[in-house]
Amino acid sequence: MTPSPEHRAAWPFRALALALSRGQLDEDDTAVIVYDLEGLDARLAELNRLFPAGTLHAAAVKAAPLRALLARLCRAGAGLEAASGPELHLSLRAGCPPERVVFDSPAKTLPELRQALALGVHLNADNFQELERMDALDAGSSPAASLGLRVNPQVGEGSIAATSVAGQYSKFGEPLEKRGEIVRAFQKRPWLRGLHMHVGSQGCGIGLFTAGARALLDLGREIDRACGERRVLRLDIGGGLPVSYGPSSPAPSMEDYATALRRECPELWDGPMRAFTEFGRWMFAGQGFAAARVEYVKEQAGQRTAVVHLGADMFLRPCYLPDTWRHELAVAAPDGTPKQGSRSPWNVAGPLCFAGDFLARGRELPDMAPGDWLVVRDAGAYTLSMWSRYNSRQAPKALGVEADGVEVLKARESVEDVLRFWG
Ligand SMILES: *Cc1c(COP(=O)(O)O)cnc(C)c1O
Repeated sequence: MTPSPEHRAAWPFRALALALSRGQLDEDDTAVIVYDLEGLDARLAELNRLFPAGTLHAAAVKAAPLRALLARLCRAGAGLEAASGPELHLSLRAGCPPERVVFDSPAKTLPELRQALALGVHLNADNFQELERMDALDAGSSPAASLGLRVNPQVGEGSIAATSVAGQYSKFGEPLEKRGEIVRAFQKRPWLRGLHMHVGSQGCGIGLFTAGARALLDLGREIDRACGERRVLRLDIGGGLPVSYGPSSPAPSMEDYATALRRECPELWDGPMRAFTEFGRWMFAGQGFAAARVEYVKEQAGQRTAVVHLGADMFLRPCYLPDTWRHELAVAAPDGTPKQGSRSPWNVAGPLCFAGDFLARGRELPDMAPGDWLVVRDAGAYTLSMWSRYNSRQAPKALGVEADGVEVLKARESVEDVLRFWG
């Protein structure tokens, strides 16, 4: 069930007011990130409804690694996709059973491979050299492990180069043009039973995803024939469905994606192969917002600037590439109620000591005053997980809201935490 646009527009203000009224934000909470826990549940339920029964939906940890969120998804039956050794441990710590963890790091070390094989997680090798390491570790004798290979289906790039990984060249996986070598790798290794792809993220269209899945299904059939048995038993189609960050970035719906996939790849629904997904941005982005207090308001050279407590520390991409990564902004009064009124151009400057630290320039916003809150919408993915240590600021508290309850998902970092980081 997708919440209405009205609910989505109003929810951050309600949640902020609730957190303030419950005393969850004190004067040291200069910023906060807040998640809609029921919204998150609804995302997983939507995937379960739209994809084949038995699909493992492994949420991409890197998008929103807050343990309480991961644990909540796992309790509801989801899996987790780990893109590094520590993300693998975080997944287990969140209570994800190994048989629902997908380990995808593109640079797995020998000790990480050894550990993953012993744990019995789903492991997708990135390349042929990694398969050779797995040979040396006698991967075939790890009965619990389910092992696959990442293939770049080479179906083309989306509109954002930095999040497109299925062009002719990609740093990930082995390219489909090495078909023969890929088939031989499977012939040589009876324990290799999965194919994995991740076509890209924001900026990619449904056509790329379905073309990638189709290409991998065909490759799987070819591998089966060459091996003389049903060898490829799982197809991991990765994540990547874009989300809308506002009117300027329309996005297809998950329903559109699933419908197209069913049309292009019907055997995922009625064949013996198990499907896996790895959505990150789609799962989390719209379920969270960030809010930062306005500390000062300045007027210079005919421009008005609000200095707020979040910038490139949490919104790395929007600050460095504002034309590509844009969030809708809103303003709340000190008690969380929405500020309406006439809008005029504002610069929204972050707290960091470099000239590019702006969340927005010349954005039409209601008048701001010290003590107000700047609300950054759709901030649930790739924000806190990209937290920067620059200027040694404390990472904000993370809250979760469910019905009328507010819980702390993660405390604000203490100054001591920051000092410890620096040794
Ligand atoms: C980043 C990543 C994902 C998640 O991508 P989203 O765009 O957040 O859905 C899934 N799988 C792999 C291998 C990734 O690298």
